[in-house]
Amino acid sequence: MHELTLAEIARGLADKSFSSEELTGALLARVKQIDPQINSFISVTEELALGQARAADARRAAGETGALLGAPIAHKDLFCTLGVRTSCGSKMLDNFKAPYDATVVAKLAEAGMVTLGKTNMDEFAMGSANESSHYGAVKNPWNLEHVPGGSSGGSAAAVAARLLPATTGTDTGGSIRQPAALTNLTGLKPTYGRVSRWGMIAYASSLDQGGPLARTAEDCALLLQGMAGFDTKDSTSIDEPVPDYSAGLNGSLQGLRIGLPKEYFGAGLDPRIAELVQASVKELEKLGAVVKEISLPNMQHAIPAYYVIAPAEASSNLSRFDGVRFGYRCEAPKDLTDLYKRSRGEGFGAEVQRRIMVGTYALSAGYYDAYYVKAQQIRRLIKNDFMAAFNDVDLILGPTTPNPAWKLGAKSSDPVAAYLEDVYTITANLAGLPGLSMPAGFVDGLPVGVQLLAPYFQEGRLLNVAHRYQQVTDWHTRAPNGF
Ligand code: GLN
Repeated sequence: MHELTLAEIARGLADKSFSSEELTGALLARVKQIDPQINSFISVTEELALGQARAADARRAAGETGALLGAPIAHKDLFCTLGVRTSCGSKMLDNFKAPYDATVVAKLAEAGMVTLGKTNMDEFAMGSANESSHYGAVKNPWNLEHVPGGSSGGSAAAVAARLLPATTGTDTGGSIRQPAALTNLTGLKPTYGRVSRWGMIAYASSLDQGGPLARTAEDCALLLQGMAGFDTKDSTSIDEPVPDYSAGLNGSLQGLRIGLPKEYFGAGLDPRIAELVQASVKELEKLGAVVKEISLPNMQHAIPAYYVIAPAEASSNLSRFDGVRFGYRCEAPKDLTDLYKRSRGEGFGAEVQRRIMVGTYALSAGYYDAYYVKAQQIRRLIKNDFMAAFNDVDLILGPTTPNPAWKLGAKSSDPVAAYLEDVYTITANLAGLPGLSMPAGFVDGLPVGVQLLAPYFQEGRLLNVAHRYQQVTDWHTRAPNGF
C-alpha cells in the first residue's frame, strides 16, 4: 500500500479496496520500520492518526466523499499542531506543544486527512541540507551518504522513501522545490498569500509560503486544493478564488510560450543538469510549447539580497524566543539578562545564531540603509525583471539547483557554499511568484529537478505543465533502491 500515490489512495478508499484505518496502520508500521535509516520524522502521532482514520472511515460510511478523506499526511514540524510537539527542528522548541492548529493543518484535517506525524527540518527552516536540525541530519533515500536538501528535508525524504504519498513543506528561499529536486519529487511553492501562514512558525514573513510535496503533479493539485484559500487570520493572505486544480491538469500546451533565462545556463551549473533541462524542454516542445530565450538581468544580485532580507526578518521573528513565555529556558539564571542570554545561546544552534547576528547587524542604525534598504531595492528590480519577462512568455523554465545532492557534511563548514545552491529558487520568493520543481532525470544516480515559474496565482498552469510532462516521462515514477 505504501507505493500508492494520493490519487490512487483516493480511488482505493472510494471503492472500498481498503479502509483509512488499514492504510494508516500499514503506513505507521512502515514509518517505524524504515524511518530510523533516514530520520525524516521528528514525531510520529500514532494515536492521533488512528483516531482520525477511524473518524474518516465513519464519515465515508455516512456517505461523505472527497479525495483527501482518510488519506495520510505529515506536516513539516513548523506547522502548529494542537497538543503535538511543534519543534521547528530546534532545541528551543523541543518542549513546545502547540495550543492550536495552523490553518493548513486545520484545513487538511477538516478535509479528512490523517496526520501521521511531524517531519524533520533545518532548525527554524534555515538551511538547504537538513543538517542543522536539533534532531539530527536527514538522509537522502537515493544515497544515504547524501543530503536530501532542506529545509523541508524530512518532508521530502519521507515521501521519497515511500513512507507516505505526500507532505507539507514551507519555502522561504527554495525549501520545498530544492529538496523535491534532490529526492525526485514534485514540489510546489504557491504565490505569496495563496496559502495561509497562520500557525506556521515564521522564519522570514515576507518570503515564507507553505505548499505540497508529493511524487506527482496530480497529487500536488489535490493537496494544494486542500491548503489554499483566503484566511482572515493571516493579514497577507489574499482573497482570490481557488480554481479546481485537478480539473485543469489536462489542458493543452499548444502554443504555450516557455522562456529560458540566459543567466540560468552560465558558470556554476553542472553541465549534466543543463543537458537534462534541455531534454525536458524538448519534451514540452513535442507537446506544443514554443521556447524562447529571455533575460533576468538582476538575478546575480538575488543571493546577496536574500541573505540580507531573510536574516533581517528572522532576527525580528526569533526575538520572541526569550526563555520567558515558552520554549527552552536555561538552568538557574542569575538574573533576567542571564536568562535571555543563556536561554537563547543554549536553545539556538549555530546557523540560527549566525542568521540572527547578520540580520541584527543589517537592521542596525547606520547599516539599515546600506544593507536592508539596498536589498529591498534589489528585490524590486528582480520583481520587475519577472514582470517584463512574463509580458513575453507564459512560463519560465530552468534547473531547480545547480548541482545534485551533495555529501552529508560537505558544505557544513562553509555556509556560503550552501547559500549558493539557492541561486535558482530564491528569486521566486523575493518576487512572491509561484514555482514548481519536477523530476527530470539523474546524475550519478542522484535525482535532478527542473523548475517552472509562472505569473502570480498561476499555480494551475504549473501543475498542468508538470502533469502533461509526467504523462510522457517516467522520471517521477522511479523509486530509490531499497525503498
Ligand atoms: N536555503 C534557504 C535558507 O537557508 C531557504 C530556506 C527556506 O526556504 N526555508 O534560507
